[in-house]
Amino acid sequence: MKEVILVKYGEIILKGLNRSKFEDLLIRNIKKAVGKQNLLSVKKAQAIIYLEPQPTADVDAIMEKLQKVFGIVNISRAGVFSKDMDEILTKGADYVTENMYGVATFKVEAKRSDKKFPFKSPEICREMGGAILSRLHKIKVDVINPEITVRVEIRDSEAYVYADSEKSIGCGGMPIGSSGKATVLLSGGIDSPVAAWMIAKRGVEIDAVHFFSPPYTSERAKEKVIELARIVAGYTGRYNLYIVPFTEQQLAIRDNCPEEHLTLIMRRLMMMTAERIALKNRSLALITGESLGQVASQTIHALGVTNECMETLPVFRPLIGMDKNEIVDIARKIGTFETSILPYEDCCTVFTPKHPTTKPVLEKIMESQAKIDTEALINKAVEETEWVLIEPQE
Ligand code: ATP
Ligand code: MG
Repeated sequence: MKEVILVKYGEIILKGLNRSKFEDLLIRNIKKAVGKQNLLSVKKAQAIIYLEPQPTADVDAIMEKLQKVFGIVNISRAGVFSKDMDEILTKGADYVTENMYGVATFKVEAKRSDKKFPFKSPEICREMGGAILSRLHKIKVDVINPEITVRVEIRDSEAYVYADSEKSIGCGGMPIGSSGKATVLLSGGIDSPVAAWMIAKRGVEIDAVHFFSPPYTSERAKEKVIELARIVAGYTGRYNLYIVPFTEQQLAIRDNCPEEHLTLIMRRLMMMTAERIALKNRSLALITGESLGQVASQTIHALGVTNECMETLPVFRPLIGMDKNEIVDIARKIGTFETSILPYEDCCTVFTPKHPTTKPVLEKIMESQAKIDTEALINKAVEETEWVLIEPQE
């Protein structure tokens, strides 16, 4: 028996001329995520993408990969049958009930896009409901709040029978590549991997920049960031990570600037360095994991001061209005949380002042910053940057 995976992708952005561009991008991303060698055919029709897995492929594994492709709303593993009511009610009912043992309630929904099919939707529902009841003795129909919905769809050339499972929920958003590229400032913390995921979900291709300060930050801290980057790559596909040695810069700030301004000056230098790297790589924005009021450097005053140093790029902060527990929920959902909480130091926290200013005044910070050679320090950081290609974690 033939099985396909039906991929549904919502309708909001499918209007007008963008539709086929959107679909082609999504198909490209699907092939990349699933591996072309696992697919026998891919076609699109009536706002659905049909994937036919290779007979030897692991369909569950393919579905799990699809759950990480942005732009997909629903993924269904469906049996394919000829458009013959007897076949649908025998082979189709056998197929769908195979995974329904122990289910208490169900309903059937039918859709008939071929209006010439001799049975109307309510009849299909009734007949299929009967076929299921005769196969599973304890199950009951519940049309309001069923545990499982069995779907019968009569389309142009074939009929599809399926029921959704927990593997059916897609992560939504827009296909990567539909919204340009941005550079994420990626630390080893909880927030920035979530920010990366959220911006990628809106269709943005990402690069990442990480600052580290050996020997104050360990090799293991750097490996942790690479591991986090690889988890994020499970959603985005491979991308570039730029690793910037920042010890000299931080020491220069520590030794020359007033203590209460250390963090903000360091953050400004980080942002300026990241902007240079981003511009070299044709990014259109910087992304951070900042959330308003979370720490002293994220008060509205401090963010203003950090933002001021940007030359041309906008800074997007997808977590700006979120509480920590909301961020943690997403981190758990996307699989970064357990790695993020591993206890390794971040260069941001190595030289934290005891009493950082929470209401900094830009002029004062600029005055303090004038004590170091900002331009030379940034150039040096950019020069010494290492490049790592991040591949998705297997
Ligand atoms: P996170 O959990 O993402 O580390 P945080 O709440 O600890 O965030 P900060 O340490 O103040 O906040 O950092 C704010 C943002 O600055 C981070 O979300 C990240 O985007 C960026 N950032 C911080 N440290 C680094 C670093 N070492 N390399 C690159 N970016 C960093
Ligand atoms: Mg941090």
